Amino acid sequence: MDHIQLAERYGAHNYHPLPVVLATGEGAWVTDVDGNRYLDCLAGYSALNFGHAHPKLLARAEQQLHRLTLTSRAFYNDQLGPFLERLAELTGKERSLPMNTGAEAVETALKIARRWGVEVKKVDPNQSNIIVMDGNFHGRTTTIISFSNDDTARRSFGPYTPGFRQAVYGDLSAVEELIDEHTVAVLFEPVQGESGVIVPPADFVTGLRELCSLHNVLMIADEIQSGLGRAGATFACDRFGVTPDVYVLGKALGGGVVPVSAISCDDDIMHVITPGSHGSTFGGNPLSAAVGHEVLGMLADGSYQARAMQLGHQLEAGLATLPKDAVVSSRVFGLWAGVDVNPGLMSGRDLSEALLARGVLAKETHGSTLRLAPPLVASEEDIELLVNSLRDSLS
Ligand SMILES: *Cc1c(COP(=O)(O)O)cnc(C)c1O
Repeated sequence: MDHIQLAERYGAHNYHPLPVVLATGEGAWVTDVDGNRYLDCLAGYSALNFGHAHPKLLARAEQQLHRLTLTSRAFYNDQLGPFLERLAELTGKERSLPMNTGAEAVETALKIARRWGVEVKKVDPNQSNIIVMDGNFHGRTTTIISFSNDDTARRSFGPYTPGFRQAVYGDLSAVEELIDEHTVAVLFEPVQGESGVIVPPADFVTGLRELCSLHNVLMIADEIQSGLGRAGATFACDRFGVTPDVYVLGKALGGGVVPVSAISCDDDIMHVITPGSHGSTFGGNPLSAAVGHEVLGMLADGSYQARAMQLGHQLEAGLATLPKDAVVSSRVFGLWAGVDVNPGLMSGRDLSEALLARGVLAKETHGSTLRLAPPLVASEEDIELLVNSLRDSLS
């Protein structure tokens, strides 16, 4: 059996991959088992903001592999402290709690918000509620899918976790109507990635900030996909001039090398976490902390963020030249785009397959919307190739 047949024969069918078997990667490019090269415009759902095999990340991971990889949090290790210090510098928040996957970090934020609500805000734990947005994507755990409105993600996985209320994304008055004295947090994505790179009105994000402050509700920004350079700024919230109470980070935090996630907030919130109340065997392990430390160092001078903005402008200009009958609409935010293709012309899947045939990897999000998120290390020529391949695929 070949690689695809093996995966399909022995694996669960929880994904519907494009028919390509990748073997190696460098920068914005990957190579399949037959030696064909592809421009990676998915970039591990933005976990690969720095591209494949970034020399700095590889060197740091390799060095740490030979020193120490896991201690558990029963002991201190010499990598965790410096990593947390850099997280504080980048987020401006006093403390961080490291986990592994994005969903775990979201769960961490939800737990902290609930405990903060009960112990600080003095909300009745039986009535505590958290407001989320429709069209959200925050991960795959039972609690998180409980407040999703994606039927595929949710169907038959009940009973669902109670305590969540869903507002229309971008509609400030919808959020305001849902807030009551038992509301402890609003969880939102500053830009909805999985939904198709949906950018809310700027006054929605600034308005959320005001509402949360006014009602003593924690503003939790899920920046797992939008953060760490993708948006043309360190955080998508920066683009709106807003500072949330809690940052939720993941994906690019591990540089595409190891799974690393974290939440960051000030001590007036984080203090509700006490020994034994939360944790993870692998969270904060020295290998992850070393790679995360290197990632944060790379983001410190703002050059990747500026590069994302610059390439994003090029991509936006390129997308504007595509035939209007084929591209119904598109949104660009940093080096991140959602492209809605005329469903009468082709599905998002068809377009992904047509791009694959032209040496470009991208994937539809929903229906006929394509998400583009090339690594921030892509070149101008790469972006030009992407736009030209799109034009060819659509004609
Ligand atoms: C990917 C993602 C998650 C979940 O991260 P995992 O590492 O897959 O658990 C949560 N929120 C957002 C916005 C994401 O893009």
